[in-house]
Amino acid sequence: MQALFARSDIADLISKVEAGERLSAEDGLRLFRTPDIAALGYAANLVRERLHGDTTTYIVNRYLHYSNVCWDTCKFCSFYRKPGEPGSFTKPVEQIVEWARQFEGQGIQELHIVGGLHPSLKYDYYLQLLRGLKGVLPDTSLKGFTSVEIDWFSRIGRKDARMVMREMHEAGLDSLTGGGAEIFAEHVRKQICPNKIGAERYFEIHGIAHEMGLKTQVTMLYGHVESDADRIDHLLRIRDFQDRTGGFQVFIPLAYHAENNALKARRASGMTDLKVYAVSRLMLDNVPHLKCYWISAGLKLSQVALGYGVDDLDGIVYEHERIFHDAGSGTPQKLGEEDVRKLIRDAGRVPCRRDSRYKLLEEVTA
Ligand code: SF4
Repeated sequence: MQALFARSDIADLISKVEAGERLSAEDGLRLFRTPDIAALGYAANLVRERLHGDTTTYIVNRYLHYSNVCWDTCKFCSFYRKPGEPGSFTKPVEQIVEWARQFEGQGIQELHIVGGLHPSLKYDYYLQLLRGLKGVLPDTSLKGFTSVEIDWFSRIGRKDARMVMREMHEAGLDSLTGGGAEIFAEHVRKQICPNKIGAERYFEIHGIAHEMGLKTQVTMLYGHVESDADRIDHLLRIRDFQDRTGGFQVFIPLAYHAENNALKARRASGMTDLKVYAVSRLMLDNVPHLKCYWISAGLKLSQVALGYGVDDLDGIVYEHERIFHDAGSGTPQKLGEEDVRKLIRDAGRVPCRRDSRYKLLEEVTA
């Protein structure tokens, strides 16, 4: 261990990390509570460099919001609108496919599809949407829908979740997004999203995707009413599940934003953001990648996070992102590829374009 950290209150935990030992729930709590952010960063960076060296990946992607209409009313959500409410929209499939046509031949690796739980769209709308998009962008990976939406499709289509996943996959869906995880602890969900499916259903649907050979993402919405213990519980549930399926390819912490929603909690501090990244990297020893979603975290913090366990930045966004910008995120709506590469290089890391399965698409040179 570096002499600098020998007297840290987490020196024993750093030794465990150096030896490659798995950390316990109690260890995780101590990591969240340490004032020694430098020691925490050292440990998280050790794991990051063991796994990925200096390589920092990003993907050339686009966002598609097909609708923001949702019957649910999650308290942290600034995105949803009720049917007919000012600002609500639902796009016809033909219009979306026409929009996608402009990206033909541009080498877009991934389309990230986002919506809510629409009360009147039919099950077939989603299949037609996927088929239409795959028809014009056959080489672009379609990453869409959360497990909450898959559960919703299962209800409106009167099919079990396995059948829904199979039909969506056949229509073109390549992977599930990680949204809907929020904080898994039931007492937190009761406060922030009481109508949403619980942890068991979330994992069941991701498990079906993993059985089908799809890789998925998993998230955590932090910085609202949850405690350190709730965060550790969240991370350990993911770690346990990942031990069984191995299908999560990336973990994405998402900071709660307070504008235009009912929760009105206070946005976490930059120090908390860095702790969440570092502790996540240390606890999730079986999830290969840790992503910083710069749209939510901010560009400057994203850069610093590359020294706290993060090895992947999302992404190259040209279409307007809605989820975090509606909630008050002040980050740019658009970031070009060269901007992302510079941001990574300025942090002393090596940028590398990747595909949706984290295959590196260029030779990594320091
Ligand atoms: S988080 Fe999702 S399910 Fe909840 S209100 Fe927003 S769009 Fe609807």
